[in-house]
Amino acid sequence: MNSPRQITYSMFTAWLSCRQKFDYRYNRCIVPRENAVALSFGSAVHSGLETWFKSHDIDKAVEAANRIDLSDADQVKATELVRGYWEKYPHEDFTVVSIEQEFSTPLINPKTGAPSKTWELAGKVDGIIERKGELWILEHKTASNANDDYLNRIEIDMQIAFYAIAMQQVLERPIVGALYDVLEKPAIRLKTNEDIDAFRLRVRDDIDADNYVRRYVRFADGFLTLRQTLIWAMCREIRHGAICPNTSACLQYSTCPYLPLCRACGDLQSVPEFYTTRQPYEELSHVIRN
Ligand code: SF4
Repeated sequence: MNSPRQITYSMFTAWLSCRQKFDYRYNRCIVPRENAVALSFGSAVHSGLETWFKSHDIDKAVEAANRIDLSDADQVKATELVRGYWEKYPHEDFTVVSIEQEFSTPLINPKTGAPSKTWELAGKVDGIIERKGELWILEHKTASNANDDYLNRIEIDMQIAFYAIAMQQVLERPIVGALYDVLEKPAIRLKTNEDIDAFRLRVRDDIDADNYVRRYVRFADGFLTLRQTLIWAMCREIRHGAICPNTSACLQYSTCPYLPLCRACGDLQSVPEFYTTRQPYEELSHVIRN
């Protein structure tokens, strides 16, 4: 009998965005060539914070955030944002249970309590913290504007529910909510011919307490039960639902990198210059691949 296939939160978002995209990435393992090692500003800051929580060495943390894949201006912003985090939160009122913890755990049928034979939940959580005897998910976010709408949305965040349901099973203890650490990216720009050191000083001057928003969100009664029902239903849908394109998503945010493949009716041989293949789950080090 085959082992259950792992499902990550990234797979959910891909499915919800466009089932055709999901099929290319997670069933056929196709990735756009230019995005093979895509890094983002958010992942650079994320690396810096991970190193900070693991080492409590701010120099190492800043170095970890200093990714050469970023533009000079974004390198400065990422490293100064991490340094500012250390200045904003020199001491914490929680203890860190784990950082960047990978998990794989059964998907449980909410009606019967039986594990799924098809799927298991997998992923990597930013952190687990303990505060006043309770466990919380630690979630780091970078945002260009951490306004009220952004912060209100986090109370219904599906990703955190996914992590909390999984980690409750792994740790065999309740998770009561999530601590959201939002780091707002400085908006100032590198001027034409501006010296990068001068820009760094301007960024350092620009970053203040308002760039860091921290919110504890306690789960409402029944919230995780509802989400578990939804996750179960989505997993069934992914297994049995039709693969169909969502053309409303083709130009959402930016042009979908799979557009040439869709135009070639999914025939990879017709557009080999655009794509390569790579196993999914690259965020996880130990996975079962079916
Ligand atoms: S190009 Fe459009 S239809 Fe094709 S995978 Fe991308 S979003 Fe889906």
